[in-house]
Amino acid sequence: MYPIRTFSKLFRLEHDNPDLFVAQYKAMAQQMPLLYLLIISSTLAVSNANLYHAPVVLSVVFPAALLLGCIAFFYWFMAIPESAEPEELNRRILIRLHGTIWNHLMFGALYSGWAIQLFLTGDVSTQGLVVAFVGVSAFGIVLCLMHVRGAVVAYLGSALVPLIAFMWMSEETHFRTGAFIVIMVALVFVIVLSRYSRGFARMINQANLVKRQKLEAERLGKANLALANQDSLTGLANRRCFMSTLERRVNDVKSHRINGIAVGILDLDGFKLINDVYGHSAGDKLLVEVGRRLSALQSSRVYISRLGGDEFGIIVSNKMNDAELIEIGELLCDAIKAPFCVSGKKTHLGGSVGFAKWADQSDSGESLFEKADYALYHAKENERGGVIIFAAHHAEIIREVREVDRLMQDADFIDEMSLVFQPIVLPNTATTVGFEALARWSSPVLGNISPDVFIRSAERAGTINKLTAFLLEKALGEAKKWPEDLFISFNLSMQDITSSEAMVRLIAIVNSSGVDPKRITFEVTETSIMDNYDTALLSLSLLKNMGCKIALDDFGTGYSSLSYVRALPLDKLKLDRSFITGIENSEDACSIVHTMVEMCQSLRLDCIVEGVETKDQLSILSAMGVKLIQGYYYSRPLCSNDAVDFVLEERRLDEFRESPMTQSDMAIIS
Ligand code: C2E
Ligand code: CA
Ligand code: CA
Repeated sequence: MYPIRTFSKLFRLEHDNPDLFVAQYKAMAQQMPLLYLLIISSTLAVSNANLYHAPVVLSVVFPAALLLGCIAFFYWFMAIPESAEPEELNRRILIRLHGTIWNHLMFGALYSGWAIQLFLTGDVSTQGLVVAFVGVSAFGIVLCLMHVRGAVVAYLGSALVPLIAFMWMSEETHFRTGAFIVIMVALVFVIVLSRYSRGFARMINQANLVKRQKLEAERLGKANLALANQDSLTGLANRRCFMSTLERRVNDVKSHRINGIAVGILDLDGFKLINDVYGHSAGDKLLVEVGRRLSALQSSRVYISRLGGDEFGIIVSNKMNDAELIEIGELLCDAIKAPFCVSGKKTHLGGSVGFAKWADQSDSGESLFEKADYALYHAKENERGGVIIFAAHHAEIIREVREVDRLMQDADFIDEMSLVFQPIVLPNTATTVGFEALARWSSPVLGNISPDVFIRSAERAGTINKLTAFLLEKALGEAKKWPEDLFISFNLSMQDITSSEAMVRLIAIVNSSGVDPKRITFEVTETSIMDNYDTALLSLSLLKNMGCKIALDDFGTGYSSLSYVRALPLDKLKLDRSFITGIENSEDACSIVHTMVEMCQSLRLDCIVEGVETKDQLSILSAMGVKLIQGYYYSRPLCSNDAVDFVLEERRLDEFRESPMTQSDMAIIS
């Protein structure tokens, strides 16, 4: 059994190794014309040599039939449609290779039979020619067949074995010698070609392994590139990809390949609130849906990516007028305005967009992005839910801001910074219970600058911690001169409560000020806390543990959720001025403020209403049970001396006052 199995292996094709048999076929196909040229020419030559002394059947009919068969096989072997499916192609190739083995087994036998017949009918010279024909051409043929080992063995076996047997049996010494040489040469051929065929298989397998490894490396490279450029949550392009696309488009504009671009930034309104209330996984789902809606609006002209958080970048290619650009922005905002379903509940989001259009050669991707960011900031401040295109007057504002930033860097705090104090009053007795310290900057170059502007400038310049420490020291120095029952409210910036070094410094200032920490309230805004919740919570707890009080400033303007507010160590909530403006004429505004006041009561927090300017506003708020008021109605911010005079004057009048303070009023003061 074993020798049969080993012998049959010689004919086996590796069906499960398409790379190999396809390579074998291709190599064979290359040799085919040469092979058949050899067969045809040698057949014709032998036929010609025997034309006059061999029967016509042997010299013409038989070789002609053989040649026709060869040509038919040649065409059949070579004809494989390139367009066939890979599996079908492989199947056909295998059939051709099997056909090659069987065909050459048959050809070998026929040629050998023909040669023996010619040998029998011919003279000595014909016999020599016949032996040379079968022997020499056989070795040429198997050289051409060398890529298909089975065909080599089949041809050698079928062509040479009968001839060798015939020559051996002739008992002629030189025929026997010839047969012996042919056997030896055939053996050498089989061994060498066997080795070659193994080497060929190894080479193809190795080449394919390298090819597969290369393809895998390319696939991984592409996957990595996609990951590096794709936002994993929404599937949109990420910030990195956005920035590189932007640079490319800017270059396209500069080299006139496209005739303009606009860069946009879309920021979701209300996302943080939903994220806080329903949790991060609901927030993620919401972003996925936003991404889906936005990507449906992408086109060859409009490219959208997620920059991070709830911010999306937009690039609009080619020239467009402002109306067209606004239309694109509104389309994106409208897509976001449609209701979402979060945790089974219907919720709404909004979106604001800032755009910057390519203006001239001085524009770079970075400057366009900066301008779009500024336009977005402007939209958020002035036209929430709207679309704003960066314009010349914005550039003017930026220039001013840069100038402020520059001057803030070198500001001499001692000479230029001061504090004013605005009373916080109990409306039912018109008694001042404390003051909010408000910073003022008088720049020698620009004059008085609003704290809304210069505090941000100090934050950008990185001098805010230093400024806060300077102002706190100054404020507590003033508070020390006031009657002991007055509290002082002091504003902290986000960077103060997110820096442990700044907190240590502020605590040291409080400790060395000689002012009872119970008299000090630190005001922090919603946004500063919500953006850095954990660190903010830690800082506020430190201040609280010292005995200081904490007020949440500008309440209602951010997107903080009730659950977060409840978890903070708060004592007071300050309702933002924007809720009070126009309260006399709007029932809606009234009911919003009422709800907030009630919320403070239920959370047991003191509620301070800011920005009260008129008697009507005061009456409405008093009727709602608001206990503390701050606003121009009572007083504008005062310089330190005027603040003390204000209280002293009030207290002098108090002596004539009829309504004494209630217990709860006393509690607020302490
Ligand atoms: P804020 O903390 O909300 O301060 C209240 C602002 O409202 C003050 O503006 C005050 O002058 C103004 N205001 C008070 N009552 C009324 C009113 O009846 N009507 C109107 N129209 N306005 C009123 P100001 O002093 O310009 O301060 C603006 C903001 O600058 C402050 O808002 C606060 O966020 C920030 N700020 C001021 N001083 C400091 C400070 O020392 N440190 C920090 N980090 N921020 C400060
Ligand atoms: Ca404040
Ligand atoms: Ca405020």
